[in-house]
Amino acid sequence: MAERTNLLDLTLPRLTEWFAQQGEKPFRAKQVFRWIHQRGVADFDAMTDIAKSLREKLKATAQVRAPAILSEHRSEDGTVKFLFDVGVGNGIETVFIPEDDRGTLCVSSQVGCALDCKFCSTGRQGFNRDLSVSEIIGQVWVANKRLEELGAARLEDAEYHRPVSNVVMMGMGEPLNNFAPVVDSMAIMLDDNAYGLSRRRVTLSTSGVVPNIRKLKEALPVALAVSLHAPNDAIRSKIMPINDAYPIATLLAACKDYLEVAPRDFITFEYVMLKGVNDAPDHARELARTLAAAKVPAKVNLIPFNPFPESGFEKTERDRVHLFQKILMDAGYIATIRKTRGDDIDAACGQLAGQVVNRMKRKVVNVHRQARPH
Ligand code: SF4
Repeated sequence: MAERTNLLDLTLPRLTEWFAQQGEKPFRAKQVFRWIHQRGVADFDAMTDIAKSLREKLKATAQVRAPAILSEHRSEDGTVKFLFDVGVGNGIETVFIPEDDRGTLCVSSQVGCALDCKFCSTGRQGFNRDLSVSEIIGQVWVANKRLEELGAARLEDAEYHRPVSNVVMMGMGEPLNNFAPVVDSMAIMLDDNAYGLSRRRVTLSTSGVVPNIRKLKEALPVALAVSLHAPNDAIRSKIMPINDAYPIATLLAACKDYLEVAPRDFITFEYVMLKGVNDAPDHARELARTLAAAKVPAKVNLIPFNPFPESGFEKTERDRVHLFQKILMDAGYIATIRKTRGDDIDAACGQLAGQVVNRMKRKVVNVHRQARPH
């Protein structure tokens, strides 16, 4: 029997096309799309306003299949980390971070990563494969359902009734290196017939794949976060090999260009603080000068490094992080320090996946993440 089409892989225009190929009307596609994404329904029999004959046809030709939860860890502060099974012993992590005015889901885009940033344990593991649309949007679909079951507070905000009000493409992998599935998944997040998130509430975080930043500008300009992590090319190339292909000036020019259509009027730059590498007061001054020279309105998010075995890096002392922040703020930039969340469930960020899958004695691509890389 032919493999049934997984409807979670399809944006509404593609689902409409698929329905047309089955001889069905476009409004039927919209109805089914809403059942799947707005109500979290996978069982065609439960789609009660769909004619029985169509339901029977869908049961024979289609399915709604998301990755299964392998494990889930809940923190006292409300953070929930999910480990999803994406086949042949591979796991990916998805993290829900509740705050007073939002519920943010950090979503993965690849199994492993090819970019080899030196401070990132995902990068150390190498690249395994890209995730499909159903595996990316499936993280949002499953998390919303599961968080509702767990009683995660729904937001007062009438606009968003479900636990996930914001998404950051900042889990495992470089989202711009899995371009089409990531863009399709974000289109579903934004679709009013699915999750209805505004472009401001969906953030893509990239290590700086410049040609694809330009493509994203045309395709679906959501909020952009860029992993900068260094004030100059010499340091950045040492810790991020991608800088050899797209050095800082090229990257910042693409960021400036992107702002023409971005939903926010600034770019968020991520900056992981590595002791003795990029954390000196002079580095902060140089960073401010670099951003000013590029004329990119910026917010800098300082990330305390979370050491992992054989990383070769150490954590910057707290007072030095604050000094770095002060220098940037004195230079006129908004600079924040990332709060650590869910410490009690995951002492070393991202070690969950390796532990769980190893325990299952399966071949595993270790999915350690470091400092929420992307
Ligand atoms: S920081 Fe991001 S781009 Fe770099 S290796 Fe890690 S996951 Fe890949």
